[in-house]
Amino acid sequence: MNRKGKLYFRYGTMGSAKTAILLTTAYNFEERKMSYLCMKPVIDTRDKDNVIKSRIGIQRRCEWIYHDTDLYRFAMDMYEKDMTVVDWFLIDEAQFLTPEQVDQLARIVDDFGSNVICYGLRTDFQSHLFDGSRRLFEIADTIDEIKSTCTCGHKTIINARMDGNGDFVEEGNQVEIGGDERYIAVCRKCWRNKRIEQSQRGTLPFLETLG
Ligand SMILES: [Zn+2]
Repeated sequence: MNRKGKLYFRYGTMGSAKTAILLTTAYNFEERKMSYLCMKPVIDTRDKDNVIKSRIGIQRRCEWIYHDTDLYRFAMDMYEKDMTVVDWFLIDEAQFLTPEQVDQLARIVDDFGSNVICYGLRTDFQSHLFDGSRRLFEIADTIDEIKSTCTCGHKTIINARMDGNGDFVEEGNQVEIGGDERYIAVCRKCWRNKRIEQSQRGTLPFLETLG
């Protein structure tokens, strides 16, 4: 194939309008009659609506990506059926892809010339890279940050998980399904200051590491 595609990773914190940007991109592709497909990893298997929604009210149908979905096989099936593969794949919540799936997306780009834009978080609530995001940082052609601003005016870096009292939580699973967790994106400095304040109140046991 002569088409030349790229693997993109566009990352940001929670609330940085990644999904809204994905949906706006999909809308623009429709206007220009470009072929595209939205996809998203399944996190909560109780979620039966295969749509990507944003808080601004738009939504698009998507294909689910399961933990064991072979995305290259998926594209190959599309090719064998239609003799072509869509020009653009738009992937939401790309941090939840497995590293193998990121490699499969790269092969779709290289063998079929499609473009794949992955939207996702850089890090989890403990400030560590998600596996899918790590692999995207390692092999994506183009990496962009979708910036958003902390209440103090600095750029947000951390996706903090909060308990019912609004205190930051430091322990737990990387992905909580069906819990009451809430998240807030904050800058690194506000994250540290809040943890120091919580340590002093005794709601966090990490004072020695915060110095
Ligand atoms: Zn801040």
